[in-house]
Amino acid sequence: MKSEKRFAVIGAGLGGAAVAVLLKQAGYQVTVYEQAPEFSRLGAGIHIGPNVMKIFRRMGIEEKVSLMSSHPDFWFSRDGETGEYMSRIPLGQYALDNYGAAYVTVHRGDLHDVMLSPLDSQDVIFNKSLVTVEDTGDEVIMTFADGTEAKADFVIGADGINSKVRETLLGKEEPTYSGWVAHRALITGEQLAKYDLNFEDCIKWWSEDRHMMVYFTTGRRDEYYYVTGVPEAEWNSPKAFVDSSKDEMREAFSGYHETVQALINASDTITKWPLKNRNPLPLWSQNRMVLLGDACHPMKPHMAQGACMAIEDAAMLVRCVDEAGVTDYETAFALYEANRIERASRVQRTSNANTWLRTQEDPAWCFGYDLYDAPLKDPIKGEVA
Ligand code: FAD
Repeated sequence: MKSEKRFAVIGAGLGGAAVAVLLKQAGYQVTVYEQAPEFSRLGAGIHIGPNVMKIFRRMGIEEKVSLMSSHPDFWFSRDGETGEYMSRIPLGQYALDNYGAAYVTVHRGDLHDVMLSPLDSQDVIFNKSLVTVEDTGDEVIMTFADGTEAKADFVIGADGINSKVRETLLGKEEPTYSGWVAHRALITGEQLAKYDLNFEDCIKWWSEDRHMMVYFTTGRRDEYYYVTGVPEAEWNSPKAFVDSSKDEMREAFSGYHETVQALINASDTITKWPLKNRNPLPLWSQNRMVLLGDACHPMKPHMAQGACMAIEDAAMLVRCVDEAGVTDYETAFALYEANRIERASRVQRTSNANTWLRTQEDPAWCFGYDLYDAPLKDPIKGEVA
């Protein structure tokens, strides 16, 4: 054990899992508190860029993730109505050769399982919904909805867009509804086989104000997934998502290409999610508490890099704790923010604008990034330390 200092991580999502594994592997004491009673395999896919596969290499899970994922050779963008190709962004072998790791698409639940696998069962405590967190100056005291209490030296808020840790640092403020929803559905390979159509590995169908992103979520290509972005003026449900329907989808994508119509027809369960956002936060840490991922910089998901940014945050935070030393945690947290804010904000802006890879642009600044190779910037001078 490198240090007797105790890290508490609030939230065992993809960002929380990454920071817990990396802290543990670096020799720190870490306990994760997760509000959910357990995780289930919810119907959603996720892209993981080479920028994050390089972090998975450090975590020892790159090969596992690679084996279970789909490896698209291209990200295609096509006109939703005419089917005309707007861009063909090379991935596959090109990503391995030029970005130093694979670009994959995978089921989110399967990925989450693998990310949590380096942790022992006692490292993650489920059914622990954080209610309050108090920094006494010497330590941090957390209370949970079940009436229990826990103490740690540091708290990492990886508790998503409605973060309690963010609320403690900055006050209560609801995230803003962006005016867009995302429909999500998983389609089995058997359903796809009924159509004499070419279902491409990774494709985004676009029109002026909406889109549908589609890709495989397994290496076997037996599960296909779509996620949309569609304007909807208001969101009034208190739920995280609601049921949608084929009729609603047909209306939203009326006039779209026959492949899109086939996907709607082949859908079984379709859900609809509000896309929410926050303005950039004035601080990412204070004394013994620090934020990462959606707790810190939520974004519309249109660049498919939101979770990737949470995982990059996790890796940079652990790198900075190691660099500054855990006893100088304020310097470590300032170093972390200085080395994340520019990149995370650029991704947040690009993602919110929904322009990513619509045309034949070069994604090297995002996919080619190697967090462990990047020189560290000094938090005060902004220069390379
Ligand atoms: P979360 O994943 O939200 O995890 C937070 C965790 O904290 C949860 O487990 C939650 O239960 C727990 N928690 C919350 N409050 C408490 C509490 N009080 N006490 C204890 N635990 C608590 N990103 C990509 O990189 N690629 C994609 O392809 C992609 N597609 C997306 C598609 C859609 C439709 C959406 C909405 C998002 C997408 N994203 C994608 C973004 C990505 O899902 C998020 O950015 C990512 O999940 C953020 O991870 P996180 O760990 O910060 O937060």
